[in-house]
Amino acid sequence: MDHKGRQDRLRNVLGSNRIDALLVTHLPNIRYLCGFTGSAGALLVREAGSTFFTDGRYTAQAWSQVQGAKVVIVRRSPSVAAGEWLAAKAKTRITVGIESEHLTVAERSRLHAVLEKEIKLRAAPPLVERFRMIKDREEIERIRAAVLLGASLFDIALKTIRPGVKETEVAAEMEYAARSRGAEGMSFETIIASGPRSALPHGRASDAAIPARGFVVGDFGVILSGYCSDMTRTVYVGKITPKARRMYEAVREAQQAGLDAVKPGVSVGRVDREARKSLQRRKLGNHFTHSTGHGVGLEIHEAPRIAKGQSENLCPGMVITIEPGAYVPGFGGVRIEDMVVVTESGCEVLTPTSKELITI
Ligand code: ZN
Ligand code: ZN
Repeated sequence: MDHKGRQDRLRNVLGSNRIDALLVTHLPNIRYLCGFTGSAGALLVREAGSTFFTDGRYTAQAWSQVQGAKVVIVRRSPSVAAGEWLAAKAKTRITVGIESEHLTVAERSRLHAVLEKEIKLRAAPPLVERFRMIKDREEIERIRAAVLLGASLFDIALKTIRPGVKETEVAAEMEYAARSRGAEGMSFETIIASGPRSALPHGRASDAAIPARGFVVGDFGVILSGYCSDMTRTVYVGKITPKARRMYEAVREAQQAGLDAVKPGVSVGRVDREARKSLQRRKLGNHFTHSTGHGVGLEIHEAPRIAKGQSENLCPGMVITIEPGAYVPGFGGVRIEDMVVVTESGCEVLTPTSKELITI
């Protein structure tokens, strides 16, 4: 769907959300709706049309990128300027929805100050985020390309991971390869967590040297054409112990149980439960300390969350991760993460990389 089509879809739900316009201030939402990739802007979507506000640094970029909206260059905060512009235009009493999670308290109060009494602000539900959950064909193709580029970095990791090499050196080689292969950047700080540090679910690469024995968790992703990739593989350095092998196989089974549960109509809470139950059967339930996955797209973490207590139902076109893990303090950790797209009948695993245990 083109940008104009996305804005029209949003326009169609303004009324049922009791707002006359939505002031979009979350940059990924702005990018999704009108194509602008700069770091300052506000998009006002009204029944009558859309207007995009940005400052002078982005004049040329806005003219070339923005689709489906008029461009207005302003000298102050784009969101406040959008409010002023609207106040000058509005003839009748209107309600403007704001993305309250993506508007600072200061901007909100300045916005209040410039709005006439006729304009009311209302915190809008995450309307654009809900549309973004379901990827169209073009988005899925972009994600597929990002996933393949991201996965190619695992070979670099395998060549670089050796006892005595610093975690940051492994990350640096991977990130250099990512950029030289065309990535716009990494989608988050590369995690290389070795030995006892592998028990830290978010052990970003440190200057610790990889020990002679133990797990190494690598969690990494790239941004390509605006879309993120995200994957995790865990390898073992040295001769593996039976306990470590059991732990790896348990996480692998749990990851498969999660994948097997992914189908349209199934709740995300259920997917989380299936992965968790699998680790509980292997007495590792208490060591699985995070949620099973998350949506991925223009942002590395987006809706839906694949977690306990979440009731969203899976739909074709959703792109999510399945990434259970087990972390035993002082011993080590294992996590395996794939990206999948929900299809009409189940899911397609996008990450092409084998999950057989690799020892180095
Ligand atoms: Zn990850
Ligand atoms: Zn993830």
